[in-house]
Amino acid sequence: MNNKIKNVVIAGGGTAGWMAAAAIAKLLGKNLSITLVESEEISTVGVGEATIPPLQTFHRLLGIDEAEFMRAVRGTFKLGINFESWRDVGEDYFHSFGTTGRDCWASTFQHFWQRGLAEGYKADYGSYCPEVLAAKQNKFAHGGGQPLKYAYHMDASQYAVYLRGLAERHGVKRVEGKIDRVNVDPESGNIFSLALAGGETLAGDLFIDCTGFRALLVEGALHAGFDDWSHWLPCDSAVAVQTKGGSDLPPYTRSIAREAGWQWQIPLQHRVGNGLVYCSKYLSDENAKHTLLNNLDGEPLTEPKIIKFKTGQRRKSWVKNCVAIGLSSGFLEPLESTSIHLIQRGIIRLLQLFPVNGIAPTLRDEYNKQSKSEIEFIRDFIILHYKVTNRADQPFWRYCKAMDVPSSLAHRIELFKQTGRVFRTEGELFSENSWIQVMMGQGVMPQEYHPIANQMTEDEQAHFLNGLRNSTEISVKALPAHKDYIAQYCAAF
Ligand code: FAD
Repeated sequence: MNNKIKNVVIAGGGTAGWMAAAAIAKLLGKNLSITLVESEEISTVGVGEATIPPLQTFHRLLGIDEAEFMRAVRGTFKLGINFESWRDVGEDYFHSFGTTGRDCWASTFQHFWQRGLAEGYKADYGSYCPEVLAAKQNKFAHGGGQPLKYAYHMDASQYAVYLRGLAERHGVKRVEGKIDRVNVDPESGNIFSLALAGGETLAGDLFIDCTGFRALLVEGALHAGFDDWSHWLPCDSAVAVQTKGGSDLPPYTRSIAREAGWQWQIPLQHRVGNGLVYCSKYLSDENAKHTLLNNLDGEPLTEPKIIKFKTGQRRKSWVKNCVAIGLSSGFLEPLESTSIHLIQRGIIRLLQLFPVNGIAPTLRDEYNKQSKSEIEFIRDFIILHYKVTNRADQPFWRYCKAMDVPSSLAHRIELFKQTGRVFRTEGELFSENSWIQVMMGQGVMPQEYHPIANQMTEDEQAHFLNGLRNSTEISVKALPAHKDYIAQYCAAF
């Protein structure tokens, strides 16, 4: 039997479907026939507008011109996230994508900063990070001596349109239609076709399930199973609304903790994306709508839309001849904007493990193993924000503060608390500095610092810390306003 993979069928045309279609067609499509089916009757989730820096790598692979992309998606640059009222009501901190200070072979910079603190230096940790200073002054530019590390805010629906154009130029065939039935071969257990409501059937060798939370193929037909993580990440709902933009264009996402969840604010060129992620056990949908509408900066442009979700991961993302990518494979709430990144990683992993002559079970196992550990690292990082808080003012926050966390996370928190040490494990998305910024930002101050910080004399220490601060300030001073930079960058295209 010839098991060559020739026909790839992608079910669903949201961000996941079109990212997969564009990448597979561009990078491996010469000998494949790729069809994407989507239904105008079933809307996409319609959110997902904040990203993290690795998306640039994905775009480079696809040959995307950044200015063209920014114009198409009405994008802005993102230097990180400002977390407000997470540590305690009225207190905030910034999680930047950049580097803070300068690490050394033995320890991260925060050990040197901590020695400085003990000796009376007042500058906060963020003042040694160009991305934090630039964000606070609403500034941005590419290049320079210390290029800023950034990601994008983008209009999700425009992104899908943009990728669709790219995918179709690389030969992807789009079919409009509602999947009515998934046909599974009783003997092999493989999917052999999708039957559409209009009577058409789409046969394929490999199916990619991008049908969003519905997970029509991987769960509906192949019963992959789901690991529910809502005891660690109890938010299960969101309400989203778009508003008119203000005169500033902040180069960062805002995340504002509320009584039973948190509110996001994502600035785009033409509007602002807003939402409230909340736990329905502590806040009704009606009250969530009120909370969001009462805390908007601009005039609403849309009706509030409620989205229900369950946090967790599909037990296997690749089952038989079906790979789930996007919301169909699982969901971690959007606190650190990691979902689009997980889509990107799923696609790259599939391309790296792409089957040639039939699907070897070892390929599938490897895919599933890598997916599992990748998402678990991210899961721990997100739980951290809820667990480590001084807030005890609301039942929701009291639950989070008291809840058990995965042992992998409990160990990290304890290690940092006692010794200030934190290590990035291989394959892990978030850097040491991400962990440090969030842990210290939320009130975990290490009890000690590494002895290497005491190797410097007082003069050397002053020279080191002051020099770093000055150079950080100087590098940011010369930057233009983010808003002006965007206008000029997009106009130049
Ligand atoms: P969807 O957008 O739901 O698309 C599903 C597709 O399947 C649609 O095209 C639909 O037509 C099609 N479909 C479904 N059923 C059928 C059928 N029977 N027949 C034919 N077609 C069908 N991610 C980030 O990275 N950053 C963020 O800031 C962020 N914020 C988020 C906020 C919230 C509240 C939520 C819930 C998610 C957020 N995400 C974020 C996640 C992000 O929105 C998704 O990862 C991303 O949009 C991908 O969605 P998708 O393509 O998997 O699913």
